[in-house]
Amino acid sequence: MTGVFFHDEFKNKDWPIIGDKFANFPKVMEKALTLPNVELFESQPVNEELLYKVHTHRYLQEVKHAWYYRGATLAVGGCVEAGEKIIQGELNNALVFSVGAGHHASPDSAWGGTYLSCIGPTVARLAEISNERRFAILDTDRHHGDGTRAVFEDNPNILHVCFCYYTNSIEHGTKVDINIDDRIGDEEYLVKVQSEFFPRVRDFNPYLIFHNLGHDTAQGDYGDVGLTREFYPRLVKEVKTVAEEICEGRYIIITHGGSRIDMAEYIFPRIVELLASER
Ligand SMILES: [Zn+2]
Ligand SMILES: [Zn+2]
Repeated sequence: MTGVFFHDEFKNKDWPIIGDKFANFPKVMEKALTLPNVELFESQPVNEELLYKVHTHRYLQEVKHAWYYRGATLAVGGCVEAGEKIIQGELNNALVFSVGAGHHASPDSAWGGTYLSCIGPTVARLAEISNERRFAILDTDRHHGDGTRAVFEDNPNILHVCFCYYTNSIEHGTKVDINIDDRIGDEEYLVKVQSEFFPRVRDFNPYLIFHNLGHDTAQGDYGDVGLTREFYPRLVKEVKTVAEEICEGRYIIITHGGSRIDMAEYIFPRIVELLASER
């Protein structure tokens, strides 16, 4: 079963960085949502106690006053619920829509359109309800996932492989950055994921793979590295296959950067169909 987590709050607002790219959702996914093994869930606000496990009191007091806070709490809530439902065996995989939350949110600060951590509270929640501690995070947004890195810096049970813009790829234990050139294109990017992420995640053997999927890397968007719209479904198909091989298909995709509305409307319905397809 594939879960899709969305809330109407995500529409008709000019979200920082990504704008109103979900204006026509979930309607544009209508066909995918009628598949028998796809269920649409309305994202619920995250339990605040989970935010306090990741962010500092001082930071949360500050961010609570921002207009985008409610959207961010719904995005994090969707991610936490997706994780819970996977642990409980109700879902195999999920697509979580996010506004205002994601990989630039550190414990005590944030920037770049993402003001709460999604994966931090989810990992904290899954530790409360299970013995699962070992998770992999694939980040294919254009920008370095500095917030994700800060949240999990001292946690060797989190593999974080981040495709960004370090001239020299760095690797410290389970924390890895892979350089992506400005004009890499679809084929070369997929080869990098195959050669840099897949062997590491197979060795690491996580319980579940989280994927921060930005499409700011698309041609004409603000993080353009020359990718076409066909790249994103192809990437998801490959990661899903690896998840099926190593962790029984447990895979959560969280939407990240990218401001092209046409791109969002093209890729996400296809990604839902792919997640729901039989292996
Ligand atoms: Zn980005
Ligand atoms: Zn990085």
